[in-house]
Amino acid sequence: MRNPEFTKNPDGLLPCIVQHFKTRQVLMLGYMNRNAYEKTLTEGLVTFYSRSKQRLWTKGESSGNYLTVKEVLIDCDGDTILIVAQPSGPVCHTGSDTCFGEEVLTNSGFLTELESIITHRKNTPAEGSYTASLFQKGINAIAQKVGEEAVELIIEAKDTDDQKFLNEAADLLFHYLVLLQAKGFTLMDVEKLLEARHGK
Ligand code: AMP
Ligand code: ZN
Ligand code: ZN
Ligand code: ZN
Repeated sequence: MRNPEFTKNPDGLLPCIVQHFKTRQVLMLGYMNRNAYEKTLTEGLVTFYSRSKQRLWTKGESSGNYLTVKEVLIDCDGDTILIVAQPSGPVCHTGSDTCFGEEVLTNSGFLTELESIITHRKNTPAEGSYTASLFQKGINAIAQKVGEEAVELIIEAKDTDDQKFLNEAADLLFHYLVLLQAKGFTLMDVEKLLEARHGK
C-alpha cells in the first residue's frame, strides 16, 4: 500500500473520504494528521483530526456511532485517504446515514429504494396501496402470492414471449421483497448469507 504524504500540506492534514463497505455510499469527509492516521490503523476505528475541536477525534466517541475500518486506500499521489468502513449507526450528527443525506446513490440502485418504499407501506399503510393491502392480509397470503408468481414465471419460462417472462420475473421479485419485509428481513440479510456461503 502507498503511504500518505502528510507533509504535502503545510498544516499536515490530508482529506479522508469514508465509504460504506457494503453499499459503497460516500458517508463523510474528515481530515487526518499522522497521529490520527496511525491511531486509525492501530485501533481499527476511524479517527480524524478535528479542526474545530483542535484535537484527535474518534468518530463515535460520544454518540457511539463508530466507523470500523475495513480497508484503507491512498490515492495516486499520496494526498488523499479513502477508508472503507462499517458504521455502527447513523454517520452524520443530524441522524442521517450519510453527511450527504439519504439520497447518496448506492450501487444496489432501485431495488434498495423499492425496499424502503415497501418498508414505508408496511409501517404507514396508504389508502388504496396494493403493497399495504398485502401486509394487511398477513404472512400466509404474501407467501402464497410468492408461490403463485413463481408458478407464473415457470409457465412463462416455457414460452417464447420475453416480455411476459420479464414481467413475471419482476412480479416474483417484488413479492419476494414484500415477503422478506413481512418476516422482518431485507435483501442485505440474504446477500450476507450468500456471501458467507460463497466464502466456505
Ligand atoms: P461523535 O463523534 O459521533 O460521537 O459526535 C461527536 C460530535 O462530533 C458531534 O456532536 C458533532 O459535533 C460532531 N460530528 C459527529 N459526526 C459528525 C460528522 N459526520 N461530520 C461532522 N461532525 C460530526
Ligand atoms: Zn491526490
Ligand atoms: Zn454530517
Ligand atoms: Zn405475475
